[in-house]
Amino acid sequence: MLDKVVIANRGEIALRILRACKELGIKTVAVHSTVDKNLKHVLLADESICIGPPSATESYLNIPRIISAAEVTDAAAIHPGYGFLAENADFAEQVENSGFIFVGPTPEVIRIMGDKVSAIEAMKKAGVPCVPGSGGPLDDDGEKNKKIAKRIGYPVIIKAAGGGGGRGMRVVREEKDLLKSIQATQSEARSAFGNPVVYMEKFLENPRHIEVQVLADGQGNAIHLGERDCSMQRRHQKVVEEAPAPGITTEMRKSIGERCARACVEIGYRGAGTFEFLYENGEFYFIEMNTRIQVEHPVTEMVTGVDLVKEQLRIAAGRPLSINQEDIIVRGHAIECRINAEDPKNFIPSPGTINRFHPPGGMGVRWDSHIYTEYRVPPNYDSMIGKLITYGENRDVAIARMRNALSELIIEGIKTNVPLQKDIMADENFQHGGTNIHYLEKKLGLS
Ligand code: ADP
Repeated sequence: MLDKVVIANRGEIALRILRACKELGIKTVAVHSTVDKNLKHVLLADESICIGPPSATESYLNIPRIISAAEVTDAAAIHPGYGFLAENADFAEQVENSGFIFVGPTPEVIRIMGDKVSAIEAMKKAGVPCVPGSGGPLDDDGEKNKKIAKRIGYPVIIKAAGGGGGRGMRVVREEKDLLKSIQATQSEARSAFGNPVVYMEKFLENPRHIEVQVLADGQGNAIHLGERDCSMQRRHQKVVEEAPAPGITTEMRKSIGERCARACVEIGYRGAGTFEFLYENGEFYFIEMNTRIQVEHPVTEMVTGVDLVKEQLRIAAGRPLSINQEDIIVRGHAIECRINAEDPKNFIPSPGTINRFHPPGGMGVRWDSHIYTEYRVPPNYDSMIGKLITYGENRDVAIARMRNALSELIIEGIKTNVPLQKDIMADENFQHGGTNIHYLEKKLGLS
């Protein structure tokens, strides 16, 4: 096993990684910004190193400082968590070139999957269903682009190959708007992502977001761990996630999951990963792959019993997968509510000191969070302060437990989105299951 791991992240995921390391007997090094010196995982880690001021560019995104921290502590590996440097191929490469293990796929695979055009190409080759589209970058030939759009059928969406975070996309409903939309997306992509390449896809009007979790050891073995439904979103940000996805049968899970696992072997994937799909009229359409552990991984852990972060660490240590596909049985139902420090009505972040805190508990309740009474939520980072996860033998039980757990959760001193989560759990259509990616914004009167 690895001897010592640097946790190159903060907040709940840093604590999650620390817990997995401890269970495996791996020593931990927390790296943190000045404002994060009292984070829970920093206090619990074997060693901690301050790597810079609050600004993420000078701390959690500062590659030389993070690698130096691994050097001075004589660590074996670096776990990037999610966000920050987790999907930065240059970081992964520098980590490896400095003689450390990157807990994740190879830099080459991160690079291919980080570019949506090359990712789609790789997926098509591997037999993963994709959205009908241009099948490659668009060039400046207007007539050709009009033909492509006609073949796909309006509405279409123009997307930046290097885009992320829901930015760099434009929907086109009529031919007269096509060419100027392509140009606008190209120039936006050039300035926002330093890469002007755009491509075209069929715009799906009312899809759900369903994603497949995979684990691969990079030694020819890959398995899938079923799917998650993350359709409850606001501005492309997930708010509630669940596993399994309502209405997805065992046969459908097996069919899409096996294709994802096979694709992992074909592209030489290593570690935990997620294939994201839009799902409409019974069909899956690949949109992108996330080459890291995701925020919503706990719902998969609850229904499969597999600790995904421990598996990441085992794979990083060079071990072949310890579980077979037959070992993966999806049992019961799990729901995750993201708890954010923000105004539940206008979504404005609400940093500050938590002066009263009571976590929920009871059977089937999991609280993944770094907060505690007197903890000060800094204004510098993402507003997510915790994840409340409930498990039940079926979806109704998981929802009932979530409603109880939300009513027990007390966080005072700052505003949180707990009232919004209570509304969602009480919503009839959510309770019925299977709402699409526009549902929450419509419910909130935002679209
Ligand atoms: P990002 O990397 O920015 O998250 P994605 O390709 O994952 O980009 O797309 C983000 C979101 O944009 C999707 O979750 C979906 O809501 C919307 N979207 C992307 N492609 C399509 C499409 N072809 N049809 C409809 N909606 C789309």
